[in-house]
Order: sequence, then C-alpha cells, then structure tokens
Amino acid sequence: MTDLAFHQFICRSDNYGLLLHDHKSGATAAIDAPDAAAIERQLDAMGWELTHIFTTHHHGDHVEGNLALQKRYGCSITGPRAEAAKIPGINREVTGGDNFTWEGREVRVLDCPGHTLGHIAYHMPTERAVFAGDTLFSLGCGRVFEGTMAQMFHSVSQFAALPPDTKLYCGHEYTQSNARFALSVEPGNQVLVARAAEVDRLRARNLMTCPVTIAAELAANPFLRLWSMEIRSNLGLESASDLEVFTELRERKNSFR
Ligand code: ZN
Ligand code: FE
Repeated sequence: MTDLAFHQFICRSDNYGLLLHDHKSGATAAIDAPDAAAIERQLDAMGWELTHIFTTHHHGDHVEGNLALQKRYGCSITGPRAEAAKIPGINREVTGGDNFTWEGREVRVLDCPGHTLGHIAYHMPTERAVFAGDTLFSLGCGRVFEGTMAQMFHSVSQFAALPPDTKLYCGHEYTQSNARFALSVEPGNQVLVARAAEVDRLRARNLMTCPVTIAAELAANPFLRLWSMEIRSNLGLESASDLEVFTELRERKNSFR
C-alpha cells in the first residue's frame, strides 16, 4: 500500500515525534505524543489534522501531549490495555497479538514488556514499518524499568524476526551514545564502525539517524547480536546463554559513560 507520508522530527530534547498522513482519506496519526505544542506546529506546517494517536507506553515523554491534542482535534487515542489507567484520554485499548486496520492498512500489536510492563509496539507490514517506542533503539535498547531482563530480552528479540527491510522507528534519538557503547563491546564489527561514523556525520549536522532497517540493526546492534563471539569474549561469556549475554550488555550499558 502506498500514499502514506511519514513525517518525523525531534522534540523535547531527544524524543522523536512521528506523524503518518494518509493522502486519500486525510487521516493523520501521531506515534506517541511527547509534546503537544511541537506536534501542533508540525501539523500546522503540513496542513494536517490529527485524527489518531497510537501510544506505545505510559511514560510522560510519550503521553504528555495527549489531552491537549485530543482537546484541539478530537483525535482517538489507542494504547496498551495494561497501562490504560496511566494513559490520558485513551479510548481504544489494544494488547499484544491484536490486529486492527488503520485507513485500510493492517496494524499488528506486539507485546513488549520490559521497559514498562504494558509496553506495546505497532507493526504495519504493508508499510514495512514498525513503531518500537522505547523497546528497541538504533544500536541499543530501552532501559528495563518495570519488567524483568527475560521479558526485555524476549521483547527485543521479536524485532529480529520482522522482515529485514522493515524500517525501525523508535522513541528517541539515542543512536550516537548507543554507538559508543556498541563499539566498546564489538570494535571489530566493520558494519558497526561504518554506521557509527555515519551517525557522527548526521548528528554533527543535527540530522536524525532513524529510521533504520531491521537488517542494518541485525548487523550492528549488540542487543540483536548475542551470538557474536567478539561480544561474548569481551564480556567473558563465551558459553553463556543468550539471556545471560543480553543481561550483561544491558547492565553494562546502564553504567557506561
Ligand atoms: Zn519510556
Ligand atoms: Fe521515552
């Protein structure tokens, strides 16, 4: 399916705002609502009216704009049932495994507990796009605040199974700091070295580093490369399970400066 415009921008300090606009129907969806004023400015500039918000999780930097946007546009707000009480204005609850259609396009809901317990992602197979919130970032993954490492490991691993040409849209522009950590555990990965250099060039010009394909992430993101012997030997975990490697990576990233 075509005729869908993607408009991404940075708001707050490092959150991505993302608008999807269907040219045929005029419908416009925001993936999360980090900042109402910033989203309104972008909508005004594009001449679009917001009809839908798709929420990934309850954190303030993803829902703070909900009520102001709903007041101005009367948009519907879809989000995870498990976090409905914490998502202002929610009027359609979905859960992992649900499928729905948005303007004739299939949307698959992926259950992604870990960063928060009810976190979900939205996959639009016909658009080759996935909206991962704070579960998977380019070259990194979200912090584990509410769930267990095992939950987060499973949530992140799901993305590896998507078609490789799927574009990953995530919640934050964290790629440059993620790249420094990734290089510390897999410095010999030439794909990663090249991506890190590209990221530095983009950020020096204040440009965004996402979206990025799942294929590119599989080649460079350490959290999707738990089998890598270079990573494993740098962690001293040559014969450990994937979950143990994931947990060690996530814990080291927490304190990495
Ligand atoms: Zn978050
Ligand atoms: Fe966030």
